[in-house]
Amino acid sequence: MGSGSSVFISMLRDDTAARPKRWLCLLYDQLNLDLNPWKDEPPESTGIILIESLSKGKSRPYHKQKLGLILANMRSFALESQSKGHPVKYIGTNSNYSEALLKLNIPLIHCLKPAELSTRKELQPLFESEKLQQHPHTGWLTPKNWFVEELGINPPFRMDKFYRRFRKETGILMDGKAPVGGKYSFDSENRMTWKGQPTAPEEPTFEVTDLDREVEELVNTVFSDNPGKIDLSKIPTNHSQALEALDFAMLHLPNFGPYEDAMSTQSKGLFHSRLASLVNIHRIMPANLLESVLRTPAPMNSTEGFVRQLIWREYVKHVHDITDGFEDISVNRTLTKVRDAMWYGGGISENLPRENKHPNHLTQENNLPMAYWNADSGFNCLDTVVGSVIEDGWTHHIPRLMVLGNIASLLDVNPRQLTDWFHAAFIDAYDWVVEPNVLGMGTFALGESMMTKPYISGAAYINRMSDYCKECQFDPKKNCPITNLYWDFISRHSESFNGNHRMAIPLRNSLRRDEEMKNFDRQTFEAWTQRLCKSP
Ligand SMILES: Cc1cc2nc3c(=O)[nH]c(=O)nc-3n(C[C@H](O)[C@H](O)[C@H](O)COP(=O)(O)OP(=O)(O)OC[C@H]3O[C@@H](n4cnc5c(N)ncnc54)[C@H](O)[C@@H]3O)c2cc1C
Ligand code: SF4
Repeated sequence: MGSGSSVFISMLRDDTAARPKRWLCLLYDQLNLDLNPWKDEPPESTGIILIESLSKGKSRPYHKQKLGLILANMRSFALESQSKGHPVKYIGTNSNYSEALLKLNIPLIHCLKPAELSTRKELQPLFESEKLQQHPHTGWLTPKNWFVEELGINPPFRMDKFYRRFRKETGILMDGKAPVGGKYSFDSENRMTWKGQPTAPEEPTFEVTDLDREVEELVNTVFSDNPGKIDLSKIPTNHSQALEALDFAMLHLPNFGPYEDAMSTQSKGLFHSRLASLVNIHRIMPANLLESVLRTPAPMNSTEGFVRQLIWREYVKHVHDITDGFEDISVNRTLTKVRDAMWYGGGISENLPRENKHPNHLTQENNLPMAYWNADSGFNCLDTVVGSVIEDGWTHHIPRLMVLGNIASLLDVNPRQLTDWFHAAFIDAYDWVVEPNVLGMGTFALGESMMTKPYISGAAYINRMSDYCKECQFDPKKNCPITNLYWDFISRHSESFNGNHRMAIPLRNSLRRDEEMKNFDRQTFEAWTQRLCKSP
């Protein structure tokens, strides 16, 4: 371990002489001892290997808060594992995981199936040489066969059938063979706007430990050019703080459902759990979260809404696995023009992965606007949401979908560039979850593979569900360009939607617009793409 680790090293027991029966390597997103395949054996028989890889940290311009979340939790997890009796090897490397593992003089190392495709690819030679033995990852709620039996292995995939299978198979929220309350989804009750009542909670805060301070310093030194800022008082960095975060989420579960889709400048998080960042690194096991949700008294629309979101998470993971990160999916693919998610002014884009091809159903090729890195766009909705993402590395589902994804789609932004931005900007982004969400839902890059229609809207939706329009230079009912961009999107891509029943009404309404309006829609598209996507 190099500089930026002295506090941590002084707390870590020296286990060099330990000779456990076996060594288990747990990756950056597997920080839970429940994942240990030998958890019923005495802890001293399983040594834990953890690796801090600088090359992984530099592989994308990750938000500083995400780097902090992972480093601080890995370090506290190492100490917690030792205190439970496990020997621990904690390795800091400038290189990648494979090289670090090869350097260890251990003939056979055990590990769990990596969730991220990028890590699976990196470790493949070690699996092949049998230096590394892979075991099933038990941190998921659903087996692959439920997905395959319901949806097959070829798109289109639909969440609904998979969700029903989960409910029937587990009996969760079921009354015999029927769903509790007579329907599987209470989504129609979960679209309320929020006007200040019920009072939304303050963002949770957590004690900053000496370990955290050291990680903050390290991130600010080694990753000084990365986006965002690090403030570990805003995120849980150890086991007991993760439990505090879980309590916070459950306390507000009763209001989660009704205001799930609302957006507000008064409260960024409203009643959302903010737990995805912890669940994705398994600091909180999905099974424990599910149990807590089912135990917490809350109206059915909140409980069912939350359970469904957890199953969405499983669904996107299976889609990712089955399509091998979309490499096996047949939708229109185009060559990548690279501008990526470069943090402007950062000069670190040479570290970005370069995919040759990517799904791009609508052949959208405009550059990601610098507005996604906090340059002023003039759209208050976009600027507010981006500001909050750059600040925290987080915003909830609807700003991601209906502001960030929506506006990028309306501007025909290249979906690969948008995905790379999401990957860099969000604290909870990993390839298996960010790619299906951005390519399959936030944009229409996968066509109808995951969604029946694109999630797009004009100003009316944003105005109804948020207070962003109040402070905007545009009037959502009179002159907001987002509405013209919406109509031009429908008209520009109309051929792609022919025969799509869910798009029949928007297509019909688009055809009804008179020529003058249509021309104005097109001019608006040309002017705003010129301004936001084409200027340096
Ligand atoms: C364009 C786009 C990109 C997204 N990128 C990510 C991402 O990189 N990482 C990520 O974890 N989620 C992503 N999501 C899903 C969702 O927005 C976040 O999981 C959620 O906003 C995180 O906030 P929260 O922890 O407060 O979750 P809550 O709103 O409280 O939801 C509860 C739980 O449900 C899960 N969940 C909800 N929706 C989804 C979903 N669509 N996919 C997977 N899990 C879900 C989360 O794990 C979360 O812990 C994305 C959604 C969109 C539309
Ligand atoms: S008026 Fe239009 S640009 Fe302004 S915040 Fe509302 S939707 Fe966004």
